[in-house]
Amino acid sequence: MTDAPVDLCVIGAGAAGLAAGIFAAERNPRLTVELLDGAKTIGAKILVSGGGRCNVTHDVVTPDDFFGTRHLVRNVLAAFPVEDTVAWFASLGVELKREETGKLFPVTDKARTVLNALSARARDLGVVLRTGHRVVAITTRDRCNVAGTGQSARFVIRHEQGETCARRVVLATGGRSLPRTGSDGSGYGLARALGHRVTPIVPALVALVLDERCFHKGLSGLSHEVEVETVVEGRSVDRRTGSLLWTHFGISGPVVMDASRFWCLARERGEAVELYGNFLPGRTTEQAREWFLTQAAKSPRRSLVKLLMEVFPERCAEAFCLYVASDPQQASAQVPRSIRDRLLSTLIRFQFPVLRDRGWNFAEVTAGGIPLEEVNFRTMESRLVPGLHLVGEVLDCDGRIGGFNFQWAWATGRLAGRAAAVTPGVGNSEAGRNGEQGKRVAGE
Ligand SMILES: Cc1cc2nc3c(=O)[nH]c(=O)nc-3n(C[C@H](O)[C@H](O)[C@H](O)COP(=O)(O)OP(=O)(O)OC[C@H]3O[C@@H](n4cnc5c(N)ncnc54)[C@H](O)[C@@H]3O)c2cc1C
Repeated sequence: MTDAPVDLCVIGAGAAGLAAGIFAAERNPRLTVELLDGAKTIGAKILVSGGGRCNVTHDVVTPDDFFGTRHLVRNVLAAFPVEDTVAWFASLGVELKREETGKLFPVTDKARTVLNALSARARDLGVVLRTGHRVVAITTRDRCNVAGTGQSARFVIRHEQGETCARRVVLATGGRSLPRTGSDGSGYGLARALGHRVTPIVPALVALVLDERCFHKGLSGLSHEVEVETVVEGRSVDRRTGSLLWTHFGISGPVVMDASRFWCLARERGEAVELYGNFLPGRTTEQAREWFLTQAAKSPRRSLVKLLMEVFPERCAEAFCLYVASDPQQASAQVPRSIRDRLLSTLIRFQFPVLRDRGWNFAEVTAGGIPLEEVNFRTMESRLVPGLHLVGEVLDCDGRIGGFNFQWAWATGRLAGRAAAVTPGVGNSEAGRNGEQGKRVAGE
């Protein structure tokens, strides 16, 4: 069925789409706004985020926290700084609190608080939400005369329930991570059909699976600081320090999740990629040797495992001793030099035997997507298709762990929504905000 055209159709009612719809309707109260989403209920990703608490943003956000064309990322972030995000959420009735790591969460510690506030605001503004409307095609027409309505629109959006015509479209379909939430990557095809490029997409913020001959299973549940380096075709492309978590399948934790995009991208390109861990972060092999000799001289009878427990947990210390075939209980001063050197070089440069990433069902975000160069950073409007705006994770920009991906969603959603709301001719729909188009549809 084809309804009367709407001023703005937002495809995807996740974080970025909700933000776009709300900011558009706030800016222009006459605007007719519809949010179409393929899922039966919206906000699945918001609800699972941050372990069910939703890490809404971070108290310091810089372009360094993102992977994407730097100057474009900088401009987008500058348009909606964290203080504004915090104030916006406060205006929605969501107070945020800062945790030690700098991550901001709702004071309720419930992601549901965030989703309810966004949904309520959209509803109060008269934004129409249509769930179970998976979009399968978007076409553009200079004038799309909608039968029986006497109105015109530029875009025709074909979905499971029929067609919607709209003067402007915001594509907010997210990436491909956690496809059961509705973000199955179909947005890339929609963008491609309109002429956009899509850079190769891979899982990011994802755990890595190790060869099962490695000792990870025995360490499952342990976490500690490690410096992780990714080397692609012999060149170091990323080095970062943070908490690594050993699991029954391999490695996870913030430092691994943040590094995973480099590993996955290299694999996707068919490049040789290696991941190394320095279990004595910041130390070189020479410094590690000095440290070891000082410790061994101080307490010569102390066992090797006890000495290593200065820097990481007992189970981990034991595993490394056994890995280099040394007796964990041997007095540290009596460890043969060759074994000591082998142990230290392993601790400083341990090559993780990575087999693969854990895949889309476990990835938190998507690396790759529609190039930022193809949008105007002031409005998020496509440079190829006037009237089309692109926001959120569907774009080629991913943030590190810590609330940065949501910040990107709010910031891009706001830019697009506000820009779409003031386009000449938009907001004059005859149906008007309180007319036929303003009625909410059940199913939220
Ligand atoms: C487990 C997990 C935890 C996370 N935790 C955090 C966190 O704490 N902090 C943080 O900053 N980030 C977190 N993220 C990342 C964050 O959730 C995403 O970056 C963010 O949700 C992206 O917003 P988006 O609106 O672009 O896309 P999405 O939130 O994915 O929304 C896209 C919407 O589009 C709909 N859709 C897709 N295709 C179609 C179609 N063809 N037709 C109609 N509708 C369609 C989907 O149903 C979905 O509702 C987490 C992600 C996961 C998976």
